[in-house]
Amino acid sequence: MLIIGSHVGFKQTQLLGSVEEALSYKANTFMFYTGAPQNTLRSDINDNLTKKANALMKDNNIDINNVVCHAPYIVNPATNDPLKQDFAINFLTNELRRCENLGVNKIVVHPGSAVSETREEAINNIIYVINNVLNNNINVTILLETMAGKGNEMGITTSELKQVIDNIDNKDRIGVCLDTCHLNDAGYDISKFDEYLLEFDELIGIDKIGCVHINDSKNEIASHKDRHENIGIGTIGFNNLLSVIYNTKLENIPKILETPYVGDFDEDKNRLYPPYKYEIDMIKTKIFNTNLLNDIRKEYKN
Ligand code: FE
Ligand code: FE
Ligand code: ZN
Repeated sequence: MLIIGSHVGFKQTQLLGSVEEALSYKANTFMFYTGAPQNTLRSDINDNLTKKANALMKDNNIDINNVVCHAPYIVNPATNDPLKQDFAINFLTNELRRCENLGVNKIVVHPGSAVSETREEAINNIIYVINNVLNNNINVTILLETMAGKGNEMGITTSELKQVIDNIDNKDRIGVCLDTCHLNDAGYDISKFDEYLLEFDELIGIDKIGCVHINDSKNEIASHKDRHENIGIGTIGFNNLLSVIYNTKLENIPKILETPYVGDFDEDKNRLYPPYKYEIDMIKTKIFNTNLLNDIRKEYKN
């Protein structure tokens, strides 16, 4: 079954608002941050809202096992700094608890960046931090995301992720989240995605893939830029993205769009519209909408 959704908000109405937003895009899953992606300020989970969210998911056949959380990307598990390591361990452990309270069992974590560390040190730091975060029996799996290699990002090759995963004690709770834009920007050719999966299966095992981020890219292969583009209008292209989305080896794995909001070029340049309803429709019908951006502007303009 196709399990498709997008990144959605998690604001005052918490998970309930996330579910409502996902349904407005005709999605059957979604991904959310428990607060702003760029900071670590987090409010308490409201159990009443969570109950309502669960009821709404049930009514609309959204399986919470397909719902994914994303940790804020400023947490850096690759750091050498012991204080920052402690912070990462504490924050991520609390984030896992928040997920458990919400009934969500997958969280995407960026491996981090080697700022003043060698890549070897950074890998050991990631292993140390993740092992500590998983040193409990919280029923939440960490999915390390494949990265584009912007700056000194870690996790840009399959073998680098393998080095980390091989050294995680709690093997049942570690996995990978692929990101098509990141793979392209890291140097993997999405038009040869089957070859990528073969290598991944040899090194890590396809059963470790817990989520796939579906994004087109604004940049050429191996650019190490990490700028997402709307589906079908980037350098990866619609058919290559469909070959990932409908790959039989990734059936039943949640596919999540993190494509950019569309700007209103005619009027107020600060107005931005979500593309997800239209992108999900293109994906379901397998027909590229050549008028994608204008259709989105038209719908949300008034
Ligand atoms: Fe991410
Ligand atoms: Fe991503
Ligand atoms: Zn990205």
